[in-house]
Amino acid sequence: MSLTIEVIKEKCVGCGRCVRVCKTGTLKMDRASGLVYNTKEHCDNCWDCIYACPTKALDIMEAE
Ligand code: SF4
Ligand code: SF4
Repeated sequence: MSLTIEVIKEKCVGCGRCVRVCKTGTLKMDRASGLVYNTKEHCDNCWDCIYACPTKALDIMEAE
């Protein structure tokens, strides 16, 4: 089972902190909505993004 990050859109305020700490390109900012999304690029499960998020908008989920 491989794991990745789920973005809980209702909680994301678009601060971009998670994108800045993610070294794998898994998380990117959608310019149109101002919210973060999962690009499906491999996540190395460092969880730095979860610790960086001020609104607890990120959770762990199974990758497809
Ligand atoms: S857990 Fe690490 S590699 Fe995965 S999305 Fe978050 S910062 Fe990126
Ligand atoms: S750190 Fe949290 S609130 Fe900020 S852009 Fe990422 S998911 Fe959204």
